[in-house]
Amino acid sequence: MCNCLNETLVEITERITDTLSSDADKSTLNVEYQNQFLRFDGKENNVMIGVSFDYYKIKKDTTRAKNKTKGNVNLAMSYCPFCGDKYP
Ligand SMILES: [Zn+2]
Repeated sequence: MCNCLNETLVEITERITDTLSSDADKSTLNVEYQNQFLRFDGKENNVMIGVSFDYYKIKKDTTRAKNKTKGNVNLAMSYCPFCGDKYP
């Protein structure tokens, strides 16, 4: 498996570090992908594409609920988004 995600994260970290204000404690900087998971299915590509959705439920009196119901699903990528190599 290629190392593009890790290499890209290093580059992003460097860019973010360069843009931090002078009062930032750079030793506390933590940069990570938002949808990174520990996988138990043996696959190594652990960064997912996040898809969020929301909708209103219809109450029993047939009026629409006041608040939205929210959810999300994560899609595993079959190919590297940077170099196009197929993930094992
Ligand atoms: Zn790659």
